[in-house]
Amino acid sequence: MSHIYSIVDYYGIQNVSKCGYCKTKEGHKDHGMWLYYLTVADYQNLIDRGWRRSGDYGYKPITHDACCPLYSIRCSASDLKLSKSQKKVIKRFNRFVTHDERRKWHGKDGNSSRDNMEVCFEQPVPTNNIECAQVTISKQVIQVDSISTMQKPIQVPLKVEPSGDANQGPRHPGKKKHLRMERAKQRVMAKGKTEQEAIEILKAKKRYPKPRTLEDLLNDCEKSEKAHNFRIEIVQSSPPNDRFESTFKQEYALYLSYQVNVHKDKPEKCNENQFRRFLVNSPLEPQYVGVDNAPIQKFGSYHQQYWLDDKLIAVGVIDILPQCLSSVYFFYDPEYSDLILGTYGSMRELLLVRELHRFLPSLQYYYMGYYIHSCPKMRYKARISPSYLLCPETYSWQPVIDCIEKIEQHGYCRLNENLSIKDENDVTNYEPVLILHRHNILRYSDFKRECEKEDTTDMKEYVRSVGRKCAYSMLLFRG
Ligand SMILES: [Zn+2]
Repeated sequence: MSHIYSIVDYYGIQNVSKCGYCKTKEGHKDHGMWLYYLTVADYQNLIDRGWRRSGDYGYKPITHDACCPLYSIRCSASDLKLSKSQKKVIKRFNRFVTHDERRKWHGKDGNSSRDNMEVCFEQPVPTNNIECAQVTISKQVIQVDSISTMQKPIQVPLKVEPSGDANQGPRHPGKKKHLRMERAKQRVMAKGKTEQEAIEILKAKKRYPKPRTLEDLLNDCEKSEKAHNFRIEIVQSSPPNDRFESTFKQEYALYLSYQVNVHKDKPEKCNENQFRRFLVNSPLEPQYVGVDNAPIQKFGSYHQQYWLDDKLIAVGVIDILPQCLSSVYFFYDPEYSDLILGTYGSMRELLLVRELHRFLPSLQYYYMGYYIHSCPKMRYKARISPSYLLCPETYSWQPVIDCIEKIEQHGYCRLNENLSIKDENDVTNYEPVLILHRHNILRYSDFKRECEKEDTTDMKEYVRSVGRKCAYSMLLFRG
């Protein structure tokens, strides 16, 4: 059986002319590489080193001198603690499905359409396509001259979030019950018990309700009598399965409407090809999960489609990897923006992680892309709790709550305060780094012998940016 390798072409450090978040001219710099072919294990290692993909293009922001430092952010789905605001979003959606009820929104998470900025940019297109099935390269020379024209995140006007407090909502169905419980608790505590003991006593008497889980809340819209039919479908987008092909036109129409109405893009910018390059193409090679009855049979790239009465109203673009679900993008029908579908979609994706976790114990995280503290639209990510930021020096995950103050003070900082912790995935030995050169897989030293003239500076930069594990397992394409 032949071994399947990832094949990448490193483009070096790219300048981003203008920052899409704070609008300064300095912007920041990214490592960039073309991802011809990627195993799910290699991609897991790459995102754990700060990389992300947009279509077939991979990038990793250089954080230390950026105007707006970007930190990768993930949530541990099995430990999820829902905020009041998040519960309200779910209940609001349930009321719509069961009673066709729609109201004005007053919640804290407001209409902060889930942030999609970081991944929404034009990617460079390789000038030559290589066939990458199991190291069969059809054309050797790849010219990389289109990269300098690369543009960075589209600018989305930053709206100030509505400042409404969770208690100012239109109605509070659980409030009386909450007061009753509170009084019962106080009565027990008056007899000399601690708060925790009082809760335990009431729970034993079944007078203190168990907190409702994400599953309980989301399943509430599945009642038998309801005003609308709502269902979610996971379709494999790359390679596209039949269901994906047959719903493609509807997805594209929804995407166009979302980009034009929500992001104010020009329609000609969002043509079908752009949609495919950005959200359908994926370098990920599907790989069997190896467990029967799991919600999906393969790791890889999917679209999660939200159908309301047979009308497509939202799509979540996701990658399912050995340890996480990585959210790529989310778009929805602007007609339903009062349902806060961005936040609702995050909750659904978290639920999927929890379902997958039951079959695949090591899959337990929800990756939300990058977190930029100075960007108010991103704060919703830190409110999905408990969340962690990736330390840009040790590549260890640190609780968000321990990081916020440091970031507020310094902008960029090493998040792991323990100075004895080193980057475990650092490279000191370049010998085993793999290079694909003229159809041959070479080790770094052999490649250097063969191509004496080749400047290997950017190769070392590549090795450090992807880390040891990936540098030793992926093939760096050098024509
Ligand atoms: Zn900036």
